[in-house]
Order: sequence, then C-alpha cells, then structure tokens
Amino acid sequence: MATTVKLNTGAQMPIMGLGTWKSPPGKVSEAVKAAISAGYRHIDGAFVYQNESEVGEGVNTSIKDGVVKREDLFIVSKLWCTFHEKSMVRKGCEKTLSDLKLDYLDLYLIHWPMGFKAGEDLFPLDSAGETINDDTNFLETWEAMEKLVDAGLVKAIGVSNFNKEQIQAILNKPGLKYKPANSQVECHPYLTQDQLIAFCHSQGISVTAYSPLGSPDRPWAKPEDPSLLEDPNIKAIAAKHNKTPAQVLIRYHIQRNVITIPKSITPSRIQENFQVFDFVLTEEEMKTIVGFNRNWRVCSMQGSLTHKDYPFHA
Ligand code: NDP
Repeated sequence: MATTVKLNTGAQMPIMGLGTWKSPPGKVSEAVKAAISAGYRHIDGAFVYQNESEVGEGVNTSIKDGVVKREDLFIVSKLWCTFHEKSMVRKGCEKTLSDLKLDYLDLYLIHWPMGFKAGEDLFPLDSAGETINDDTNFLETWEAMEKLVDAGLVKAIGVSNFNKEQIQAILNKPGLKYKPANSQVECHPYLTQDQLIAFCHSQGISVTAYSPLGSPDRPWAKPEDPSLLEDPNIKAIAAKHNKTPAQVLIRYHIQRNVITIPKSITPSRIQENFQVFDFVLTEEEMKTIVGFNRNWRVCSMQGSLTHKDYPFHA
C-alpha cells in the first residue's frame, strides 16, 4: 500500500494518485477502476477536465463492487477560473460533487489564482485570443472555499498554480480561518521547484507535483520540446535500478515527500507507475536529477499573460 503525507488538517493524503486531465470520458472510468484495483487510493480530477461524471462512475463502481470503501479513498477536484466570484464557489463545488455522485471531496483546490468571466464558456476569449478576466480577488475566493469546509462539502482546501507571494497573501489574510492544506504545481526534473517546495513545507503546506512525466500528451507539444521519458540521463538511472524512466520520475517526488499524480489510461502503465515503493534512489542520484532543472513548463497558460494574477512572471 502506498505511503501517505500528513496534511495540516490531520488527514493522510496518499503520496501517489491517478491524474485524469485529457483522459477521455470513454476511457477514464476503466482507468480509475484499474488504478483502484492496483492499489491507488487517490484520484486527481477537475471540473475543467470535463470527465468528472465518468471519473465518479469508476469510483462508485469500485465502491459498489467492494474493492474499496469511500473513506479509504482520497478524491481531489478543482474550482475552475470561471467560478471565482464568492457567490459561485459553492455552485462550482456542488456541480463537481453531483457529477462525481459523491457527498464530499477530500481536497478541493482553487485551480488557478486567476478569475475569468463567469459563464458557460470555460475559456472566455477576446478578439485577440486572450482570456476575458473578472475582477475577483483570490483572497475572497478563499473565504468562500473556507465555507465549503464548514458546510461539510470538502474536508480540506488548497491552491494550484499559485506562486509563493500568492500563497503568502493567503497566509497573511486577516481573519484567515483555514490555511491551505496543499499546493498543486507543475514539478519534474526540468522544473524542480526547489524554493516553492521548501517554502510550502516550511509553512506546513503539502505539495503535489503535476505533469510528473512531462505530460507527453499535452495538446500543444512540439517535436523539438524536451522529453523527460526519453532523457538518456533518466534512462541510465532507471537501467541501474532495473526500473522504467516513468518509475524513476515518480520515485523522485516520493523521496522529497512530494505527492504526485501521473496520468494514464493504459492499465499496464497504471500498474507500472504504482510499482515505486520497492526501490530507493541514492542521494547522489537525487542530486543529479535536481541538476536537470531548466525551468521548462508544460502549463504556462499563455492566453492569460496580462491577467493581474498571472502567477509565473517571476
Ligand atoms: P503526465 O506527466 O502524468 O503524463 C501523462 C502522459 O504520460 C500520458 O500521455 C500517458 O499516456 C503517458 N504515460 C503514463 N504513464 C506512462 C508510462 N509508465 N510510460 C510511458 N508513458 C506513460 O501528464 P499530465 O499533464 O496529465 O499530469 C498528470 C496529472 O496532473 C493530470 O492528469 C492532472 O490530473 C494533473 N494536472 C494538474 C494541473 C493543474 O493545473 N493543477 C495541470 C496539469 C496536470 P496514456 O494515458 O496513453 O497511458
């Protein structure tokens, strides 16, 4: 069974989860079921992935078939940018819960610090192709997130794609009721995030690494982009341990006490990605891997560069 990371709420969050971005609705229920059968107890989803009904189907079938109990699962979702107005936050959460057919989430994250114009369109764009923003402030959105905990809809709340200053702004907020329990950010050997992770851990905030394999199926991939799974240095470390590059890329986070959520819809890979608790990277290998950092991002939300809360200028 996977090990867990203790949150500042006291809950235990499984260090390995299944990602579901880009998992097609027709495939994701089977992927979730395969993951739960393989031992995963943590599923990472989001409203904007537009597959939460099918994720929920996989979860609920596994519960109904007696493979797992709800209380042994850790289900994560995220509030999309078009729901940042205080009056919309509960609606966003309730929509996710009703799609998933669940009574509560274990963790609910603000997906990005940036608010977009509310409405049906998840990426409202102007004529220049830039997102149409709203004037919400994520500190107010946070207050509405706190109310979800009090209402029992979610057990814990956190943030995603927030930079250090934005997390600090929440921590400094007058009248703060709940600190973020988790910060989900892109992290892999080409974007090692050492400072942000050290900061979060020093504040008692757990960190989840997204796109741990470098997201080879990201829609905007270009042939000349770097590839983590093909990196000869990662391959060499993997060969030494008789493991695959994916397993090394996952194990690297576990040894930093960072939660990670590789996505796959392929049952054999779902199993492979979970076989990461039976080997240890040496201290030297860990240092070597951190040395591969080149500040390369999969998810930089290029259409929102002028947003007042764009997180990645620094
Ligand atoms: P990952 O880095 O997890 O890579 C997923 C890709 O790797 C898929 O193409 C998958 O193929 C392939 N793959 C999986 N396992 C293996 C393996 N063992 N060997 C070879 N290839 C493999 O990318 P994601 O960007 O999806 O990130 C993971 C999750 O993080 C997301 O799904 C989502 O839940 C979350 N996320 C959150 C974001 C946020 O803003 N908070 C942003 C981006 C991601 P296949 O499925 O065909 O098997």
